[in-house]
Parts: sequence; C-alpha cells; structure tokens
Amino acid sequence: MNESRNYIGGQWLEGESSQDNVNPSDTRDVIGNYAQASIEQVGQAIDAARMAQVKWARSGLEQKYNALMFIGSQLMERSAELGELLSREEGKTLPEGKGEVYRAGQFFTYYGAEVLRQMGDFSESTRSGVEVMVSREPIGVVGVITPWNFPTALPSWKLAPAIAYGNGVVWKPANLTPASAVALMQIIDQSDLPKGLVNMVLGSGSKVGEAIINSPDIDAVTFTGSLHTGRRIAQAAALNLTKLQMEMGSKNPLVVMDDADMDTAVACALNGSFFSMGQKCTASSRLIVTKGVHDEFVARMQQGMAALTIGHALDADSQIGPAVDDKQLAQNLSYLEIARAEGAELICGGETLERETPGHYMQPALFVNGDNTMRLNREEVFGPVTCVIKADDYDHALSLANDTEFGLTSSIITSSLARATHFRKNSKTGCVMVNLPTSGTDYHVPFGGRKNSSFGSREQGQYAAEFYTQVKTSYIKAD
Ligand code: NAD
Repeated sequence: MNESRNYIGGQWLEGESSQDNVNPSDTRDVIGNYAQASIEQVGQAIDAARMAQVKWARSGLEQKYNALMFIGSQLMERSAELGELLSREEGKTLPEGKGEVYRAGQFFTYYGAEVLRQMGDFSESTRSGVEVMVSREPIGVVGVITPWNFPTALPSWKLAPAIAYGNGVVWKPANLTPASAVALMQIIDQSDLPKGLVNMVLGSGSKVGEAIINSPDIDAVTFTGSLHTGRRIAQAAALNLTKLQMEMGSKNPLVVMDDADMDTAVACALNGSFFSMGQKCTASSRLIVTKGVHDEFVARMQQGMAALTIGHALDADSQIGPAVDDKQLAQNLSYLEIARAEGAELICGGETLERETPGHYMQPALFVNGDNTMRLNREEVFGPVTCVIKADDYDHALSLANDTEFGLTSSIITSSLARATHFRKNSKTGCVMVNLPTSGTDYHVPFGGRKNSSFGSREQGQYAAEFYTQVKTSYIKAD
C-alpha cells in the first residue's frame, strides 16, 4: 500500500507515526491514515536527493524534457480522478479541484518546454584573446514547503522548475492534504526521473518542516504559507545562509470606481471574496468602493450572496464548499466577533450551516461601515469574510488600497483607461488586475507579491530560473 507513505530514495516508507485525513465536507469520511516522517527520515531524504541530483544535473536536456512532459501529461489526463480526490480532502468544489490538477500538469509541460529554451550568455572579454561565458547551474538540493489550499498546483509550480533546472528536492506537503501529495508523487515515481531526485516527507511543520529548514545540507528553501511561518523560516535560513524564496499571505483590495460596470464589479467581488471559501492568498478581502456607487454595490452584493449555493464539495450544485477544517472555521467565526467589536456592521451571512453531511460549512459574510484600521481589514482571515470600505474618490481609494503591510494582488473595476493605467502603475502589489477578480493568474508569467507577501525572487515563468539556478561566469583564454 503506497497511498499513505513517505517517498524517500524511490521507496515508499512508513513514518514514525500516522494521522487521519478527514473530508471537510463530511467528517465521517476518513480518506486515509497518512505517515508522519521522523527527523532521521528527513536526513535520509536529503542524502538521497543529493546523490540523485549529481546524476540528474549531468543528464541531457531531452531526458529532462521527457520526464517533465510525462508528469504533466499524466496530471492532465487524470485531472478528473485526481481533482475529485483533491476536492474530497481540501473542500474546494469539483470543477475547481479538476481545474487545479489540470493546471498542475501545465506547470510541468511548461517547464518541459522551458528546458529546451535554456540559453547561456557569451561575451568578448575586455582583455584581448579572452572569452566570457555566463551560464546557469542548479543550486543543488531544494527544500520545498507548501500549504494546503492548492495541494497539487502549488507544489507543481515549485517542483517542475526545481527539476527542470537540475535540482534535487525534499518536499514537505501540508498535513491537511496528504492524499493529493501522494497522488502527485505516484506520478513522479512512474516517470524516468532518477530515484531519490524528488522525495516527499509527510508531517507537521513544527517537526518535519523544522528539520528541513534547520538543515545545513539544504541549499535553498522555497516556502508558501502564512506570514507567521515565513518569519520563522527566514530566521532559520539566515543562520545557515540558505537561499530563500517565500510567498505568504495578503489583504488584497478590489477597488470599485463610480464609473465601473456594476455587473463586472459584483461578479469579480463574489468570485474573488468567496469562491474556494476565501481560502486563496489572492482573495479579495477588502472591497474599496467610491461613494457614488457604494450603496448600489452593497445592495447588489447582498442579492448575489443570497443566490450562492454552499454545500458538499463533490455536489454538482455547490459553488462553495466547506472550510478546510474546524480550526479554519473557528478562525473565520472569530473574525466576525472581532469586526463587530471594532464597529463594522455585518449585513449579510456569517452563519454556520447544517448540511446533509456533517462538515465545516458557513455562509459567506459581508461587512460594511468598516475602515482600514480595523483588524478585519489588516489581518488575513483566509475565509469567506470581506468588508466594504467607502472611499471619497479615486485618490482616496488608491491610498486605502496601498495602506497595508501586504502586497500580493489588487484589482480595479473602472471604465476609464486613464484610471486603470494610473492604478496599474501605482498599486503597490506584485500582480495588478483591471476589470478582473484579484485571483486567477496564468502559469507562464511571474507570480508573486511585494512587502510582507513575498520574499526573494519571483516564482513561475522564466523568472523562476533566478531562484532554482546559480550563475557562473567563466573566463577562457582563447588564443
Ligand atoms: P502555514 O504557514 O501554516 O503552513 C504552510 C506550510 O508550512 C505547511 O506545510 C506547514 O506544515 C509548514 N510549516 C508550519 N510551520 C513550520 C515551521 N516552523 N517550519 C517549517 N515549516 C512549517 O500556512 P497554511 O495554513 O498551510 O496556508 C495558508 C497560508 O498560505 C495563508 O497565509 C495564505 O495566504 C498562504 N498562501 C500564499 C500563497 C502565495 O502564493 N502568496 C499561496 C497559497 C497560500
């Protein structure tokens, strides 16, 4: 039985203990009992990655291309089956689950193609008779630490470039979503990658994650998760001078201008704030609306929210599933109390919901009369809770949008090209959207944030080479 074990050195291994994986749409449904790796096993995984990486770095581009294309096409072909598993353990709806697995496949095929596009730089020297080559080499062994909210796509956008650029990997998935992690590893196991190149150690952040980030034998760490964990990882990386890249939380603003198309504004706000249960780093958690359309926007949001269907993730009618677990649900509910105490007014939703199956369901919540100083509007809730903040005009809206410690995505809904252009240039986020939701990004271009949302170089597209490679400058006396 491979479906619940660690994958180390090409072997499926039991851990030192195990933990149940429970379906958040139906807590009676235990998907499996998953291994928890020991600290010794993390060391074994690092050793295995080190040995395999030396071989992999020397392998030809076509071998790399073939392996990545195989993994990518398997994910795409099996997206219906694996998407269902993902939705069952994470709680996002079936179309979202299938779409995520398909997207994960696209990361692998994209980097398969990217392998064949790698070119170095060549230059004449300032000295006569000398030539200069600038080339990229793998970093070595990369520690990959991922969250639960995109359990297949997110690891894929880290593993695919790590492999493409010749590195070994020790990956620790989130403990809430091990089934999707194991499914991805099973596909990787069937590929022609050298055994031991990619290893997966299941377990908690406090034990298995800490063993990775504290190891002096890890050459680089890529992490996606909360700001709180990111700060801890940065401390550990600083001690070992480990190369580090991190993507963390946010408080993404959706700005709605007086001249906005209201259908677009409401559709973007509903999608960005509540779909996937608000459990997206790119979710719209502040709706900054200029005063001329504030009341109309709020009324239209209430209508739209009344029509949302919340239910079992695998139910074809559900638009929104449950929270991932009881702790996340409790966190969402606690922010309702925090916001009320601060003076914001809950005008819609926020109730926990009973469904045929016992799960962590709640009605998405909309606050009004909020301001940007409230904890609701400064801290990441990571749930379907959002707040309308009234702005006097565009300049006020822009300053509210930028008044946050985070900076992942932002969006403006407007019919003015001049406004859209000004916002695109002056919004202090890594990704800016115009007349689109704050969430939803492509796989062939860079993704990442500014301020406390991000640390280090960009992920995805050709920009990923910056993290997964190191640059060498060679001088050759040619005559
Ligand atoms: P989390 O920080 O609790 O955990 C993320 C990962 O880090 C998990 O694998 C966890 O086990 C591990 N971890 C926890 N403590 C650790 C430690 N001390 N040492 C090493 N590893 C440790 O985050 P989460 O709850 O799984 O995910 C939600 C967060 O992820 C949100 O803040 C969300 O915004 C963020 N996120 C960001 C992006 C992005 O690209 N910016 C994408 C998805 C999610």
